[in-house]
Amino acid sequence: MRVLVTGGAGYIGSHTVLQLLAAGHQVVIVDDFSNAKPTVVNRLETLASQPLTVHAFDVADRDRLDALFADPAAPIDAVIHFAAFKAVGESVAKPLDYYRNNLGATLALAEAMLRYDVRHLVFSSSATVYGESAPVPMTEDLPTSATNPYGWTKVMNEQILRDAVVAHPLLRVALLRYFNPVGAHPSGQIGEDPAGIPNNLMPYLAQVALGRIPKLSVFGDDYDTVDGSGVRDYLHVEDLAAGHLAALEWISTHDRPLSVWNLGSGQGTSVLELVRAFERASGREIPYEIVARRPGDIATSYADPSLAERELGWRTTRTVDDMCVDTWRWQQANPHGYPS
Ligand code: UDP
Repeated sequence: MRVLVTGGAGYIGSHTVLQLLAAGHQVVIVDDFSNAKPTVVNRLETLASQPLTVHAFDVADRDRLDALFADPAAPIDAVIHFAAFKAVGESVAKPLDYYRNNLGATLALAEAMLRYDVRHLVFSSSATVYGESAPVPMTEDLPTSATNPYGWTKVMNEQILRDAVVAHPLLRVALLRYFNPVGAHPSGQIGEDPAGIPNNLMPYLAQVALGRIPKLSVFGDDYDTVDGSGVRDYLHVEDLAAGHLAALEWISTHDRPLSVWNLGSGQGTSVLELVRAFERASGREIPYEIVARRPGDIATSYADPSLAERELGWRTTRTVDDMCVDTWRWQQANPHGYPS
């Protein structure tokens, strides 16, 4: 298949591109490089030992999308849509930017797909759509909700795509609800490269281990969890990428218009457990202090991933220790992320 990957230079996109190529697919990347460095493409080409087709534009650009879909020499068979703004705090400060960017991209892409009769779409959703009071383990049939504009863009994009498949029943859409993706490619050449100070726990831990940040702030130790710190379902980005290939394969060979799958390990890990795991992986002590809870955080989030296992034959295979080892390898090899 020739697969259009929006956001293919990003963290999850880049790992998925490598697996698509390894599986024999052709890949066309669209990325505006607003939150990715062009060096990623060079690294991907080296790792895949082949040149890549990359278009640098915003997915919401209808004219550029049309030109790409209309190319008779390179017809698109399916789309994996990663491109989106993803910082929760920034979404609270700039809600209109988030709605315009994240909804506008999906609308433009879905419209172009319909114009050019491209039927298969895998969409990056998030466990954030389960809102703040969902029971664990979280199952796909729970109601959706959100606590911040970023989360609402995921809920709304899911709704847009649900409505689209009702009106256009030949579409085949997968909504993949990711839990907490971490880790890096085992080569240490591809990984997560947050701009500025990381918001998420794993990249933050890596920078503390490196000595670039003096200590971790643990956001609360009074939750009703194993040790009082927040519990999340971490999964290796390589397992997550494999989930996209499995979902793409499934929707290409089945007739259900809309599929929703949780992609998670099904295991909860606390902040303090992850600190210990990272200490083991890096051989370094991680200084930390307990501070107040972060507004909007929930105590515990983990998936019931049994639907994906049953239908896709997909489950995670890498442990939390593997995730820390691979993150550390990437961070040590790239202490300042990708070179500009
Ligand atoms: N966390 C923390 N310190 C940090 C960043 C995160 O204690 O500097 C905690 C956070 O409260 C949550 C867990 O780590 O319990 C995972 O946070 P992250 O932002 O990575 O993911 P999310 O909360 O979006 O699931």
